[in-house]
Amino acid sequence: MIVIMSPNTPTEEIIILKQKIESENNVSINLIQGKEYCILGLIGDTTKVDASKIRANEFVENVEKVQQPYKLVNRLFHPEDTVINVKDTSIGGEKLAVIAGPCSVESEEQIVEIAKNVKDSGAKFLRGGAFKPRTSPYSFQGLGTEGLELLKVARQETGLPIVTEIMSEDMIDKFVEDVDVIQVGARSMQNFELLKQLGKTKKPILLKRGLSSTIEELLMSAEYIMSEGNENVILCERGIRTFETYTRNTLDLSAIPAIKKLSHLPIIVDPSHAAGLWWMVEPLAKAAVAVGADGLMIEVHNDPANAKCDGQQSIKPKVFQNLMTDINKMVDVKMDKLQIL
Ligand code: PEP
Ligand code: MN
Repeated sequence: MIVIMSPNTPTEEIIILKQKIESENNVSINLIQGKEYCILGLIGDTTKVDASKIRANEFVENVEKVQQPYKLVNRLFHPEDTVINVKDTSIGGEKLAVIAGPCSVESEEQIVEIAKNVKDSGAKFLRGGAFKPRTSPYSFQGLGTEGLELLKVARQETGLPIVTEIMSEDMIDKFVEDVDVIQVGARSMQNFELLKQLGKTKKPILLKRGLSSTIEELLMSAEYIMSEGNENVILCERGIRTFETYTRNTLDLSAIPAIKKLSHLPIIVDPSHAAGLWWMVEPLAKAAVAVGADGLMIEVHNDPANAKCDGQQSIKPKVFQNLMTDINKMVDVKMDKLQIL
């Protein structure tokens, strides 16, 4: 349930009403102060809250029931787009945030070279897995903590903030210390203990949609993080499993406008894991931008044929550069919300 206050309601009246609702009902209230509005978002069991009684307050403009199970993530609770600041850049809002880099960190030379390349083409974040969730236990599992150290070297060399995946709760302190954006992979989207613990940090969390998760399940996972106090959540559509086998997954482009309508959180698209085919990354990336994505996450490798992981879906730096040039042209024709940082 949300309570929309009339414009220019005195702050003390808002506080009095907030305390009254909280004490009369077993709920907590999230106060959202916009430029021209103030909304009280009720969290908890609101089934017994008497809306007509609240509506009778002279400063209340309206009371609305929130049908969806997610609250803090809901756009009703927060009408403006959330912008997440990371170092001197951001994700969400007017600008398109591009995250690029290899599937996994392989060596210092590899990650530093790719970092420099993607930076030159306009990427604002460097990605690279140090801990890799592989289907087979016999496949390359990532360089682990050594990979984190190499990412830090690449950050030092380029200034690009680093995005990398966490797989277990016991690594949280290390990631908070070393990483700029903590990625929760598709396979961990419903690791609720991990989500709760990440919610206790203030780090930006990039939450990828689970392989077979609905939009609502993705938003509920984001709610887990936010309900613990961390508001810095970025969502990522990375393709879902369907009956189609030509592509690795099926990119659900409709999830972007849907999530924009339902939530205030930024939503980015990973066309690499969606397609699983390098030559499809470019058209899917452009499509993602056209439907309003807040950013892109793209796998780029200097030697895809010899990559330790996901070479078949990784584009070369030159292809990435051309893609960035084309996306900048889309900015020139002033499509909705495009402007490379
Ligand atoms: C990744 O981004 O490295 C990754 C493993 O992606 P996903 O979790 O979407 O499969
Ligand atoms: Mn990958």
